[in-house]
Amino acid sequence: MGSPAGWLLRGSKLLRRNFPSCLSSWKIPPSVLKSTQPEAVLSELPFAPLQMFTDEEMMIKTAVKKFAQEQIAPLVSTMDENSRLEKSIIQGLFQQGLMGIETDTKYGGTGASFVSSVIVIEELAKVDPSVSLMCDIQNTIVNKLIKKHGTEEQKATYLPKLISETVGSFCLSEAGAGSDAFALKTRADKSGNYYVINGSKMWISSAEYAGLFVVFANVNPAIGHKGITCFLVERDTEGLHIGKAEKKLGIRASSTCPLTFENVMVPEANILGQIGHGYKYAIGILNEGRIGIAAQMLGLAQGCFDYTIPYTKERIQFGKRVFDFQGLQHQVAQVATQLEAARLLTYNAARLVVAGKPFIKEAAMAKYYASEIAGLTTSKCIEWMGGVGYTKDYPVEKFFRDAKIGTIYEGASNIQLNTIAKHIDAEY
Ligand SMILES: Cc1cc2nc3c(=O)[nH]c(=O)nc-3n(C[C@H](O)[C@H](O)[C@H](O)COP(=O)(O)OP(=O)(O)OC[C@H]3O[C@@H](n4cnc5c(N)ncnc54)[C@H](O)[C@@H]3O)c2cc1C
Repeated sequence: MGSPAGWLLRGSKLLRRNFPSCLSSWKIPPSVLKSTQPEAVLSELPFAPLQMFTDEEMMIKTAVKKFAQEQIAPLVSTMDENSRLEKSIIQGLFQQGLMGIETDTKYGGTGASFVSSVIVIEELAKVDPSVSLMCDIQNTIVNKLIKKHGTEEQKATYLPKLISETVGSFCLSEAGAGSDAFALKTRADKSGNYYVINGSKMWISSAEYAGLFVVFANVNPAIGHKGITCFLVERDTEGLHIGKAEKKLGIRASSTCPLTFENVMVPEANILGQIGHGYKYAIGILNEGRIGIAAQMLGLAQGCFDYTIPYTKERIQFGKRVFDFQGLQHQVAQVATQLEAARLLTYNAARLVVAGKPFIKEAAMAKYYASEIAGLTTSKCIEWMGGVGYTKDYPVEKFFRDAKIGTIYEGASNIQLNTIAKHIDAEY
């Protein structure tokens, strides 16, 4: 039982909760977001610290933060409850130019760097990890696959739509092919100038909202994963069925659906890249995409921390602010240090990509570590807020639920550890 000050008079609204003023209901945008105060990079520094940003990165960060706080924050709770992203938020992502961050300006994109994508994903996740995921998949996976492997015609057809109105989905996983993704059974058989796709996919993020599906299917199962080929499939193609969205623990507003393909005819012109190279494209893009998930987890953890600390500085117990208890301070300091380490791993991995340097081990480390830290941070934040942290009236329990997915998708934690160990094996 909580103290009388903590009584929640049950009903649809809070009547009188004698809590600190900083503890506003989560429907109101968090007013205190202290997440590391970045500075624009100083050009005379020979080696800029990882947390310093270029003017462009800084501008993007500031704009996204404003968008997230003003437009997304008021809807987060409702979207979680309804398990749906509001149309206005998806439109907002397009209007803000957040669905084509690295896309060439020639196709209407922003033409910014991968680091900018990471910054945007982090900023969005501080407020809503589901919105962040849609933006992440669009930028770090769908657009990038087309940018890297598309023909000029495919780029001209799809990139302008993907930056302005069309949500994309990445369709690799199947019921029997998760961590072992290349055990996929969906097949594509040639028929004249078409390929006919049959099979099913699972766990496809953004499927309810998507207009374009990047689908991996095998054109020659006899040769195993070397038959895996990547297809661009439009939503209204006959035979493509989008199943009922999964009911999930977290990132509930992000739709996650199964897909079935019943004689789905895709023109040969919609093969992305080369026949039989799909597995290489999937590995390549997921290696990079993992940095996006690290950024999502980092943002989520930071958003939760930012919300919680002011509470601990106002909540009085035993005549003191709970922040003043050294037992709590040490926990806070440990979490803050781990958050900082996750941030440095994530930014470093992103900057390695931009620099054209090897990054696979570092990306796996960033994703693994940021996911673990997101779980730890959000769990601790609930503890630090006590009973109120455990209720749905404040965003902390949602961050806790949202964090778990980081250890599962785009390569479960064990798979990241396998990758890291493989690199260490090769290095020594
Ligand atoms: C919300 C959500 C959204 C998703 N979005 C997408 C999407 O948009 N597109 C898409 O294609 N997929 C998506 N996925 C699928 C996701 O990538 C898979 O769930 C993930 O790869 C894990 O596969 P699995 O669920 O089959 O687990 P499994 O592969 O069955 O793993 C179960 C456990 O076994 C462990 N394990 C497996 N293999 C090994 C190994 N070799 N060594 C050690 N441990 C191992 C794993 O670490 C895990 O702990 C999504 C999943 C979820 C839940």
